[in-house]
Amino acid sequence: MTAHPAELDAEARTAAVVRLFAEVVTAHERNALTRLALRAGLMWRCHRCRADYYPTTAACTCGAPRPDGLA
Ligand SMILES: [Zn+2]
Repeated sequence: MTAHPAELDAEARTAAVVRLFAEVVTAHERNALTRLALRAGLMWRCHRCRADYYPTTAACTCGAPRPDGLA
């Protein structure tokens, strides 16, 4: 499998946020980290479903694509 550089970048950012989520204990911490990750471009949210995704996820389950600039 040949990875596009942008995909590697998304993978690196996803790995970083996954490591952060491994450190959270409470629901409050998880909500706070999600909010920060969304703001920092480490995650993206489908505005139709309010569902949150990692940068490596190219589209929401509803079919809405990942926003430009996050890949
Ligand atoms: Zn959606």
